[in-house]
Amino acid sequence: MKTALVCGAGGFIGTHLVERLKAEGYWVRGVDLKYPEFSTTAADDFVQGDLRDPVICQQIVCAPSDNASKPFDEIYQLAADMGGAGFIFTGENDADIMHNSATINLNMLNAIHKLGEKTGTLGKTQVFYSSSACMYPERNQMDPDNPNCAEDSAYPADPDSEYGWEKLFSERLYFAYNRNYNIPVRVARLHNIFGPLGTWDGGREKAPAAICRKVAKATDAIEIWGDGTQTRSFLYVAECVEGIRRLMTCETFAGPVNIGSDEMVSINQLVDYVCEIAAKPLERNHIDGPLGVRGRNSDNRLIKEKLGWAPSQSLKTGLELTFAWISEQVEQQSGVPASLR
Ligand code: NAD
Repeated sequence: MKTALVCGAGGFIGTHLVERLKAEGYWVRGVDLKYPEFSTTAADDFVQGDLRDPVICQQIVCAPSDNASKPFDEIYQLAADMGGAGFIFTGENDADIMHNSATINLNMLNAIHKLGEKTGTLGKTQVFYSSSACMYPERNQMDPDNPNCAEDSAYPADPDSEYGWEKLFSERLYFAYNRNYNIPVRVARLHNIFGPLGTWDGGREKAPAAICRKVAKATDAIEIWGDGTQTRSFLYVAECVEGIRRLMTCETFAGPVNIGSDEMVSINQLVDYVCEIAAKPLERNHIDGPLGVRGRNSDNRLIKEKLGWAPSQSLKTGLELTFAWISEQVEQQSGVPASLR
């Protein structure tokens, strides 16, 4: 049986990834500061621990066996201090974001390297790292109609957030461990992932979840940060997990590669879709708020070329599933059924 370690298994993508790996027959250990918030974990073993602690990292990289030093077949490193625009673009969390996420990546790679050296198994564990579209240079994302997020546009580097700088640093760190210590790595730049079981409230939620929540709660109007003409693309979580698995099983290509949708919409269009799904013709009040770049879209030429695949599900299909789940959460929280609000 193949073994996998999922770091960040209590988070949004990690919860879905663990489920997928279990469905594929893996033995899975999850690690996170917290258990999944909205479901139970499908992992065989779940360690609640802090990956900023190097000792925890050394302990969890050993797969279960009679011999305590067996490495995992695969490690998925998704743990990060992260959130939507309200968390990463205000500037208030920059030091924590950089310190916490960089420390996790440094500790994990060091633990994988040391275990491999000790047991003579260096190169046996394939490691996935979740980078982000936030690492692309701001200058290429000023025009909402024509953003450039081709993988080779990353340098000269100029991300618009410290979150993006940390992702860029860590991408380089993973490839350095690959070059110097022969650790096989796969790196994907994820673009705005959404879906059920994602954070939808409390300040770390991303745009699709925030808009679904606002629409589910509203009776006549909702607030939107900025003028709503900024553009983005959003990828449904099942397709994100599919892309991660395809990259991990590809023997000839390590990335970095975009995993995202290329169905670009403005935030106003996103709101239109959600209002349509909810059958609520709401007023929109545009207010000041953290926005990020003016335009961003996934460039899927490289993923198509290298993996022969790219996400294809329509945004609306994913939004229908997500809105249904968030409405349920809102209902449970307020105790008032949607039909009576
Ligand atoms: P998430 O916040 O739901 O999951 C991250 C998990 O990491 C959380 O459960 C958190 O508790 C855990 N974590 C944080 N610090 C930790 C620590 N010190 N020790 C152990 N666990 C810790 O985020 P997500 O949306 O599931 O994203 C997963 C990964 O994908 C992250 O690295 C994120 O940067 C990246 N990514 C996500 C998106 C997206 O749109 N969701 C886009 C680009 C990149």
